[in-house]
Amino acid sequence: MLSNHFQNGIETAKLVWSRLPNADDGDADEVGVSKKIDGSSVESLDYEVVENHAYREEQAQRGKLHVGYYVVVKWFFALLIGIGTGLAAIFINISVENFAGWKYSLTFSIIQKSYIAGFVVYMLINLVLVYSSTYIITQFAPAAAGSGIPEIKGYLNGVDTHGILLFRTLIGKIFGSIGSVGGGLALGKEGPLVHIGACIASLLGQVTCGCAAGVAAAFRAPVGGVLFALEEVTSWWRSQLMWRVFFTSAIVAVVVRTAMGWCKSGKCGHFGSGGFIIWDVSGLESELFFSSHIIASVCAFLSFLTNDLFSGQEDYSFEELLPMAVIGVIGGLLGALFNQLTIYITYWRRNYLHKKGNRVKIIEVCLISLVTSIISFGLPLFRSCSPCPESDPDSGIECPRPPGTYGNYVNMNFNFSLRRVGELAGVKLCGFWTLRWLETTGDLGGQDDHELPMKGDKRTEAPKVTWGLGAKLEKVSTRNTRRLMLTGDQGGKRFIGNCLIKQGCHVFKWRIMRSLPRVCLFKLDKVVKIGILRGIAFYCGKDKEYNDLATIFFNTQDDAIRNLFSAKTIHEYSAQSLLTFLVMFYTLAVVTFGTAVPAGQFVPGIMIGSTYGRLVGMFVVSFYKKLNIEEGTYALLGAASFLGGSMRMTVSLCVIMVEITNNLTLLPLIMLVLLISKAVGDAFNEGLYEEQARLRGIPLLESRPKNEMRKMKAKEAFGNQKVVYFPRVVKVADVVSILKSNNHNGFPVIDSKSGETLVIGLMLRSHLLVLLQSKVDFQHSPLPSDSRGGSLPIRHNFSEFVKPASSKGLSIHDIHLGPDDLEMYIDLAPFVNRSPYIVPEDMSLTKVYNLFRQLGLRHIFVVPRASRVIGMITRKDLLIEDNEDPATVELQSTSV
Ligand code: ATP
Ligand code: MG
Repeated sequence: MLSNHFQNGIETAKLVWSRLPNADDGDADEVGVSKKIDGSSVESLDYEVVENHAYREEQAQRGKLHVGYYVVVKWFFALLIGIGTGLAAIFINISVENFAGWKYSLTFSIIQKSYIAGFVVYMLINLVLVYSSTYIITQFAPAAAGSGIPEIKGYLNGVDTHGILLFRTLIGKIFGSIGSVGGGLALGKEGPLVHIGACIASLLGQVTCGCAAGVAAAFRAPVGGVLFALEEVTSWWRSQLMWRVFFTSAIVAVVVRTAMGWCKSGKCGHFGSGGFIIWDVSGLESELFFSSHIIASVCAFLSFLTNDLFSGQEDYSFEELLPMAVIGVIGGLLGALFNQLTIYITYWRRNYLHKKGNRVKIIEVCLISLVTSIISFGLPLFRSCSPCPESDPDSGIECPRPPGTYGNYVNMNFNFSLRRVGELAGVKLCGFWTLRWLETTGDLGGQDDHELPMKGDKRTEAPKVTWGLGAKLEKVSTRNTRRLMLTGDQGGKRFIGNCLIKQGCHVFKWRIMRSLPRVCLFKLDKVVKIGILRGIAFYCGKDKEYNDLATIFFNTQDDAIRNLFSAKTIHEYSAQSLLTFLVMFYTLAVVTFGTAVPAGQFVPGIMIGSTYGRLVGMFVVSFYKKLNIEEGTYALLGAASFLGGSMRMTVSLCVIMVEITNNLTLLPLIMLVLLISKAVGDAFNEGLYEEQARLRGIPLLESRPKNEMRKMKAKEAFGNQKVVYFPRVVKVADVVSILKSNNHNGFPVIDSKSGETLVIGLMLRSHLLVLLQSKVDFQHSPLPSDSRGGSLPIRHNFSEFVKPASSKGLSIHDIHLGPDDLEMYIDLAPFVNRSPYIVPEDMSLTKVYNLFRQLGLRHIFVVPRASRVIGMITRKDLLIEDNEDPATVELQSTSV
C-alpha cells in the first residue's frame, strides 16, 4: 500500500530506487512509447501552476495594478511576436527571391551562348546554397532540420524536444531555409516559418501565437494561421489564447503587407516578383489592410451566404462534381503514399545512413541537389516549344499571360471609361470584371477569367480586353464608391486607369473590396518589349514560343504554382509535361524529405497536387466540351486534395486555400475535396505530422483515449512500480543520491506527524536543483523550520522556480556540494506544489487520460480510496462574483 511506503521514509525509498532503471539508460522504456525513443531528449513540460508557498505569497501581495501589468505585457509580447515573425518572413522571402532571381537571370543569360556552361553555373549556385544550408544544420543547429512542425506539435502537447526552441535553432532555421529553398530543392519555406514563429514566440513565452504567426506570414493568411494553430498544433485551447493568436496574426498581416508595399518600387532587388504565396491579391493600401480586411471578410461572407452561394455555382456545373471527387480520391491516395514512403525513408536514414555522421548527411544533401539541378535543367530539353496562347489581336500582345512570364512591358493608355472600352471593343459591357494586379510587383496582372461575368453576361460575350504586365502602379484613388483611378508609371510613361466597382458591398469604400469582383478596364496599344522571362523562351528559338515543362521545372516554386493555377487559357501544359513533372517532383519531394536541411511540405504538396489536378482538368475539358471548364480551378483543387491527403487538416487548409487564392466561390469545392482526401488518406495511415512525430520518438497524447483504457483502472497504468518520494525534511546527501539514482521529475512529499502520514504535495526535480544550487535554504536541524511556532521562511522569488521554456536546464551532475553541505537538511514544505492532481486508484484510465490531456498535466498522484469527505463542490460554488484574477489565468498559459 502506498501509505506503508511513506511510513518507511527515505530508507525504503532508496531501496525502491535501486530497482529503477539506471539514470544512464535513459527513460525510453519508462515512458512506454517505443524503443526507438531517445529517452534523454524526451521529457514533458510543466504547464501546471506550481502553487507553492512562494507562489501563494506572491499572489497575496499582488494588487490590481500588477494584474493589469501582466495583461499588458502579454499583449505587448503578442505584438512583438507578430512583428518579429513578419520581419523574419520578409527577410527570408527577400533573400530567397534575390538568390533565385539572380540565379535564373545569370543562367538565362549564359544559356544564350552555351547550354553546358549555363547548366554548370546553375548547378553550382544551387550546390553552394544547399551546402550552406546543410552545413548550418549539421554544424550549428541540428534541431533546425525538417519542418519543425511535429516537434512544435509535440511541444504544445507537453513534450519537450531538446533544442527545438533555442535561439541558435531560430538562426539556423532562418539561414538554412534561405539556402535550401533558394537552392531549388523540392521543399518549401512555409513549415520552417511556423517553426521560426514558434522560436521567436518562445523567447517571449507564447509558442501558440508564434505558430499562427508563422502560417499567417507564410501564406499571408491570418485567419488560416489562427485555425492552423487551433486544428493542427495545439492540444489545449482557451478563448483568451484565441484572441491573442488572432491579434498576432493580424499584426503579421499588417507587417508583411507594409513591407511588401515598401518593396514594390524595386527597393528589394528581385523581390517583389514572386515570393509570398498569393495568387490573387488586391491593391489595398497597407495601413488600412487589417481593418478593411475584416470588414471585407465579413462582407464577403455575408454576400457569399446570400446571393453568391447560388450565383457562385455558375462557376462549376453539377457534372463536374464527379471529377472533383476523383481529385479528392487521388489526393487521399497520393498523400497517404507520400506519408508511407517518407516513413520508410526516414526510418532507413536514421538507422543506417545518418548514423555514419554529419559528413554523410552533407554528401547526401549535395547529391540530391545535384540530381534536382540535372532534372530541372535537363528534362525541359526533351520538350519542344509551343506557340504562346492567342489573345486579343487588338491588344498586340502575343503572350498576354503566358506561363512563366515575368512581365510584358507594354505601352498603355488607360484613359477609358467602362462604356468607352465597351464601345471600342464592340461589346456591351455588363457584369463583373476583376481587377487583378500583382501587388508584389506592381504589375497589372491578367484578367481573372473565373471571376468574370457572373450575372446577365455570358462568358463567351466577354470582350477580350487584356492589360499588360510590368507597369508600376503608383497610386490608386477613388472618386466615389464605385470608381477607382489608377495612376502609375510604364517604362517612363505615365498611365491612368479607370476601374468601376460594380458588385458587392459598394456601400463601403473601395478599400474593403478585397475579395470581391470589381470592374477595371484598359486599352493597350502595342507591345514595346517582352520583359524578363522565366521559362517562356527557355530553349525556344523565338520570343513567341514557350516551353511548358521549363515554366514549372526551371522556375521558382511560387512562380511555377502561379503558372499551374493560371486559368487564362486551356491546354497551356501538355499532359505529357504534367505527368513527367508529377512523377519526377513527387520522387524528389519524397527523397528530399528528412534530409539535414530545413524543409516544409506545403509548397511541394501544392506543386504535386496542382499538377495532377490540372491533368484531371484536361481530361474533363475534353470530356465535357460544352462546359466552361478551367484547368486552373482543377489545379487548385488538386493542391487542396494533396495537402488534405497528406497532412489531414481540413478547416485550416480550407481557409488557407481560400485566403491565398482570394476566391470564395470555390470554397464548397475545396471543402468537398478536402473531406474526401482526408477520409481516403485516413483509411491508410496517420497524417504526416503525427507519423513524423512518432518516428522521432515524440510521444503525443491524442485527443481521444484508446478503447482499451475503458476497462483499465488508474493503478494498472503504473504496474508494480513503487513510489519514490521525499519526507518533508530531508538530508541534502539523500536528495543528491535520490536524484542521481533515477530520472523522475516529480516526487510526492510526505509529512509524518505523530505517527500520521500526510501527503503535502508534489516536488519537482527542477525546483530541488534550484534549492541545491542556491544552498540558502539548507538548515542544520532535521526539524521543520516552522516547528518553533514561526512561519515558513521565503528566501526565493516565485520566478526562480519558473523553468525556462524549453531546455535541459540544470542537471544534478552540474551541482557541486561540499561534505558540510551534504550533512545539512532542507525543509521542502515551502516549495512543494500543495495542490497536485489526485485520482482514486480505481478511476478508469479513460477518465485519467481525459483529465491529464485536457488539463495539460505532467504528474497525477494515485491514492487509495479516500476515507473522509469534507465537502462537496458543485457548479453553484464556482459561480463566484467576478473577482477572478486574470493574472492567474495568464500565468497558466505562460508557455503555451
Ligand atoms: P516526464 O518523463 O513525462 O517528463 P517524469 O520524468 O517525471 O515525467 P518519468 O520518470 O519519465 O516521469 O516516468 C517514467 C515512469 O516512472 C512512469 O511510468 C511513472 O509512473 C514512473 N514514475 C514517475 N515518477 C515516479 C516517482 N516519483 N515514483 C515512482 N515512479 C515514478
Ligand atoms: Mg521522464
